[in-house]
Amino acid sequence: MIMNERLSYIFGNSALSKMRDFIDHSTLFAFDLDGTLAPIAPKPCVIGIPDSIRQEFSLLNEQAVVAVITGRSCSDALYHLGISPRYLIGNHGAEGLPGWKDRENEFFCIANHWQSQLDNLLPINNRRGIMIENKGTTLSIHYRYVCNIKHAHKMILQAIDKLDPQPRRIGGKFIENLIPVNAPDKGIALRILMQKSQCQKAFFVGDDETDEDVFRLNDSNLFTICVGRNISSNALFYLREQNEIKRLIAEINSVLREKGKYSGEEPTDIF
Ligand SMILES: [Mg+2]
Repeated sequence: MIMNERLSYIFGNSALSKMRDFIDHSTLFAFDLDGTLAPIAPKPCVIGIPDSIRQEFSLLNEQAVVAVITGRSCSDALYHLGISPRYLIGNHGAEGLPGWKDRENEFFCIANHWQSQLDNLLPINNRRGIMIENKGTTLSIHYRYVCNIKHAHKMILQAIDKLDPQPRRIGGKFIENLIPVNAPDKGIALRILMQKSQCQKAFFVGDDETDEDVFRLNDSNLFTICVGRNISSNALFYLREQNEIKRLIAEINSVLREKGKYSGEEPTDIF
């Protein structure tokens, strides 16, 4: 494992002043949802953004260009967010990107084809707690609630190996995400949003493996933060715990207020 020796705590003195210097009204502010804006819940369907975080996030959305880039589908994410950011990108980058509608239909067909194949490879009456979630353009296979985690994971990996076409597979906490190989990842999505919004810089916070696609971009115009001190992450800075996101967004709001008024367009509903 390669250690990230530059990873610094964001609320340390020098990190905080670097953040204050970096952000301004030409910055795109992008966030993951689960584990970042919302604490991880035992069941993904019951996540909730605490009111204090939602308030700060809403303030930021009023004065800056904001994006949420999540593994959830856009409609599911919007339900939990309760606020429309300027950009809402779902399925790890494979849904909602401006200019990608035709390609999205292609991803949708691939995901449906995988679903049919998995229904044969992992018959419903023999899944033993394994759950397949079809999110439109990607699939997630959950195995948190099976009796024998090791055995279930092995069954899942064997089934994935037989899929045609082969997916890009990203493992997580008791989950395997299956993504069409040609679908944009979160890093590509962020780059496209920077172009679309004409923001020269981007600020991104995320907590898991799919967020590493942003952290790996390693560009001086990006300011990246991971949730939790993960020394194998490619992020520049870290938050110790998810609940520090409120303080982080409050700090951004305060810096933007000091740096003057936002002059861009009003955020618009994505639907
Ligand atoms: Mg996450």
